Amino acid sequence: MKYDRILIRYGEMTLKGRNRKHFIRMLKKNIQYILYKFRNAKVEAAHDRMYIILNGEPYEQIMTKLRHVFGIQSFSPAVKTPKDIEEIRNAALFVVQKTYEPGNTFKISARRADKTFEYDTNELNHAVGAHILINVEGIRVNVKKPDINVVVEIRHDAAYISGEIIQGRGGFPARSSGKAMLMLSGGIDSPVAGYLAMKRGVDIEAVHFHSPPYTSERAKQKVLDIAAKLAPFTGRVKVHIVPFTNIQETIHKVIPEGYSMTATRRMMLRITDELREKHEALAIINGESLGQVASQTMESMLAINDVTNTPILRPLIAMDKNEIIQIARDIDTLDISNRPYEDCCTIFTPPAPKTRPKREKIIEYESKFDWKPLLSEAIDQTETVVVKSGGIEQETGEDHAHLF
Ligand code: ATP
Ligand code: MG
Repeated sequence: MKYDRILIRYGEMTLKGRNRKHFIRMLKKNIQYILYKFRNAKVEAAHDRMYIILNGEPYEQIMTKLRHVFGIQSFSPAVKTPKDIEEIRNAALFVVQKTYEPGNTFKISARRADKTFEYDTNELNHAVGAHILINVEGIRVNVKKPDINVVVEIRHDAAYISGEIIQGRGGFPARSSGKAMLMLSGGIDSPVAGYLAMKRGVDIEAVHFHSPPYTSERAKQKVLDIAAKLAPFTGRVKVHIVPFTNIQETIHKVIPEGYSMTATRRMMLRITDELREKHEALAIINGESLGQVASQTMESMLAINDVTNTPILRPLIAMDKNEIIQIARDIDTLDISNRPYEDCCTIFTPPAPKTRPKREKIIEYESKFDWKPLLSEAIDQTETVVVKSGGIEQETGEDHAHLF
């Protein structure tokens, strides 16, 4: 016997009545995308669950990929059998033997959608459980906290027997809720902010400011490596790399030192907002967390945010550094972020930036110089790189990227 399918449960998004059809369609597409190497596998979607019909494809590899897919509450490898008690018993035994280790306990959780089936749930639990007890030496029943929970579902068309329940990523299907520009530095925070937004279904394009020769090629590569870690969640991530040297040098010359950081952030935000408009995105995401550093006080946010009305999403705003680091570790960006290369902001950061900058003052300081040509130049010279989810997929994934 073999697992012939993977059962996928949707979770949270099933609550969203109005959008449900849309989400299910997106999830199906996204799952089809990760399956493109497994040509025989097929996806069947129903209103409450989805099946990947394996047709001989390896379920372990597919399950590894499913861990990156947003919109899945949990999934389980499963077997479909005719509604025949002997077949059901054998399938349940197979499921137990797949993961059984000496000392393990088990339970049968029968569910019956087809009420005409000859056994009710209690009888099923007993009939199937007895078969396991007879055939697996030393196994015991534990209904409260079993090591192995075999779910036996009698549906109208057939019986489905599934084992280990693997937690999915949750959230909403990738790219199901519009696009936003992610301000991506090489730091720990902004990749996590991007990830959390992606998890809510936001499609992201990253914007990175670099200042050669003050920042090196390796600092830029660091950001592309971070983007490569985010890409598997949506298939690909576009990174817009903005040359920022002229602007930073000018700020250094023109703006009083205490306000240079505020000015830098305002310029970054102006450029990001223009790129947002150009690429038809709806919002801007950054990695700010209240109170972390000088630029992240509320006074600072007020002075910086002043340059645009575009919604700025700050997924990390109330999070502790520890929580952020934990997520960075989970999505595997932490080690890259910890690489020691210089960041364009730290290089020009004065020893004591104003933690409570005044909006009127920064407006006055900025008004002494015509920034428009510099901003336009930076936007014109922006280079765009498409980072795909890595490996072989980099070449062959192309045809499928549009599926998202
Ligand atoms: P991070 O770890 O994301 O760098 P941080 O806590 O170090 O965040 P700052 O360096 O003050 O905070 O940056 C605040 C936010 O501004 C970042 O999270 C990011 O969204 C944006 N940002 C900073 N530097 C850059 C950059 N060079 N390019 C693009 N965005 C940037
Ligand atoms: Mg930083």
